[in-house]
Amino acid sequence: MGMSRKRTYSRGLTRREMLKYGLYGGLAAGLPGSLWLGGCGKKQADIRPTNIILISIDTLRADHLGCYGYQRPTSPTLDKLASQGLLFEDVTATSPWTLPSHGSMLTGLYPNRHGLKSLDKYLPTDVVTLADVLKEHDFSTATVVNSIYLSRKWGLDRGFDDFTYVEEIPDLWMPSEVEHHTVKWLSKNSSQPFFLFLHYYDVHSDYSSTLRYEKQFVRPYKGVADGTTVQLSLFRKNLVSLNQVDAEHLIDLYDASIRQLDDGIARLLKLLETRGLLDNSLIIVTSDHGEEFLDHGGVLHSQTQYQELIHIPLIMRGPGLGQPKRLSNIISLVDVMPTVLSLLGIAIPYSMDGIDLCRLWEKSDTQLGRRYIFAEGSKESVVPQEYDVKHDIKRAVRHPRYKLHYNKLTKEKRLFDLQNDPKEKIDIVSKHTPLVDSMFAQLKSFMGISKAGSSLPPLTPEEINKLKSLGYL
Ligand SMILES: [Zn+2]
Repeated sequence: MGMSRKRTYSRGLTRREMLKYGLYGGLAAGLPGSLWLGGCGKKQADIRPTNIILISIDTLRADHLGCYGYQRPTSPTLDKLASQGLLFEDVTATSPWTLPSHGSMLTGLYPNRHGLKSLDKYLPTDVVTLADVLKEHDFSTATVVNSIYLSRKWGLDRGFDDFTYVEEIPDLWMPSEVEHHTVKWLSKNSSQPFFLFLHYYDVHSDYSSTLRYEKQFVRPYKGVADGTTVQLSLFRKNLVSLNQVDAEHLIDLYDASIRQLDDGIARLLKLLETRGLLDNSLIIVTSDHGEEFLDHGGVLHSQTQYQELIHIPLIMRGPGLGQPKRLSNIISLVDVMPTVLSLLGIAIPYSMDGIDLCRLWEKSDTQLGRRYIFAEGSKESVVPQEYDVKHDIKRAVRHPRYKLHYNKLTKEKRLFDLQNDPKEKIDIVSKHTPLVDSMFAQLKSFMGISKAGSSLPPLTPEEINKLKSLGYL
């Protein structure tokens, strides 16, 4: 395909970490191929993708898409994309809020290893991003992002040659400017292999779309819910009350915005097809977290680790993926980066938390060698302590069938059987003590590995106001 894959890449770990993982001083040669060399791409150089397009739809619950079983027509484009490629049924975000989750998507590391867990931390300079690696391998790298958390401040812009931050506008009804900037970039830059990371804020609150979509999804309603972040934040403070009927209305507004965005993705795919870029590109669609509509009594996201907040979609279409398939393994957002590198035949640069998923379709290795995945960083870790928010950090550990929630402040544990109780309504923690002990031991040992991000100066008053206006403080 005319591009070099020349450099062996080994930064991203401190010397101590490299020694620990056996990566220092030429020991890499002794590592299993799945860790050091990309599996799929190495074997099948002829079907490597030329370009990578990673699309993150902020705040998109998996269960509101047709291809994940939703009954309303929110997602014909994504459904079709999934039917032509791979759909991962059981994908867990690493965190219920934007910054840590995107950190994981773009580094292959859990938040406790990439360090982006609160607003006073910057991505450590020795952490390597997907864009860093692809740039080293001669891809042109570009991103259009639509959230302050992905702006330059916290470091997730690292590795991108072209960086565009489209400021999020909470009450925007029209499709966001992300589409406009993407079309513009593609018109000038698609002649050499590229990595394009697109982030859409369109389905995030305020839940809004144009009349055409509201007509299709929003049923008659006479209540007070207006779908604004401001009102939902007041609900959280017990200053507004919302009931199940109101939640249904919020869902209608949310669904309408999903369909509006899905039609935007259709326009993007059409453009790629017209320019001859569709079939040689790996297209990945995912999200950073979901959204709650009173499922467990709350709204918005970031405060719990229930499925409505951490079960996210993951769809891939493109060369090297084998036959279209649905895969039911437990998958984490940290798996995206090692899988992309593997598909490109690029060495995975350091020990990631993520797993190269290629073996699922290459070798039908249905177990992945993984028993647990983790989610961490709930809302109270969003802000530094000086902003007077109590630290009530909730974490979760997933086993293929069970999920254990742990509240660090109250020490409370809850266990749910996702097979028989997918909506997590019946806490069975008292009935399964040995299982709980074993899962908790896993969580404790996982949390024992910790890396703080580099420190940032305190937020400016302007930044605090902006975060407040978006409902984050
Ligand atoms: Zn988000």
